Amino acid sequence: MIALTVSMGMIAGVRIVDSPNCDVRPGLIEPELVVVHGISLPPGRFGGPWIDALFTNVLPADADPYFGTIQRLRVSSHVLVARDGGLTQYVPFGLRAWHAGTSYWRGRNACNDFSIGIELEGTDVEPYDDRQYEALAELVAALQRAYPSLAEGWIAGHADIAPGRKTDPGPAFDWPRLERAVRGRGAAFRREVLA
Ligand SMILES: [Zn+2]
Repeated sequence: MIALTVSMGMIAGVRIVDSPNCDVRPGLIEPELVVVHGISLPPGRFGGPWIDALFTNVLPADADPYFGTIQRLRVSSHVLVARDGGLTQYVPFGLRAWHAGTSYWRGRNACNDFSIGIELEGTDVEPYDDRQYEALAELVAALQRAYPSLAEGWIAGHADIAPGRKTDPGPAFDWPRLERAVRGRGAAFRREVLA
C-alpha cells in the first residue's frame, strides 16, 4: 500500500462522504487517542451502502428490520475501513466525530472530545480482513506523523472505553497483529488492557 498522507485534517486521495454528525472539539483539544470500532449493516453483512447512509442520517427504516432501531441515531466516525482495506473519510480529524458515546479512558470522560474514531467493517466474531489490518496500521502511522499529540501511540477499542455497553471490535480483532503492523511502520503503539 502507498504511504498515506494526512493534511489539513484529511487523508489525501481517499473516498469522502461528508457527515453532518460532528462539531468542534471543546477547547480545540488535539486528538490523543485512536478508537477502533467494528460495524456492519445489517449486522453480519458487508459491502452495502448502509454505513454511509447511517452516518449521513438517511438510513431507510424499511430496508431492514434492524434499521428501525438505529435510524434515529446521530453518529459518525472519522474513517471507515472497508473489507478490502478501502478508506472512506466522513469527518475531518480536527472536528469531533460522534463515535464513542458515553465513554471513559485513563481518568477522562467523553472520549469523542480527544479521540479519532475509526470503524472497521466487520463483526465481533468473524476474522477481520488482512487488508484492513494493513490499512489501519498505515492510517495510524500517518496520523502520528500529522498529529504530535498522537505520538505516544495510544489506541483503544470501543469496548475498552465503554465496557459493559460496547463489545466492538470484538474478540475477532487481533490486537497483537495490529501492534506488529503499526510498529513495523516505525509508529508507536500503546494500549491499556483492561484487567
Ligand atoms: Zn463502536
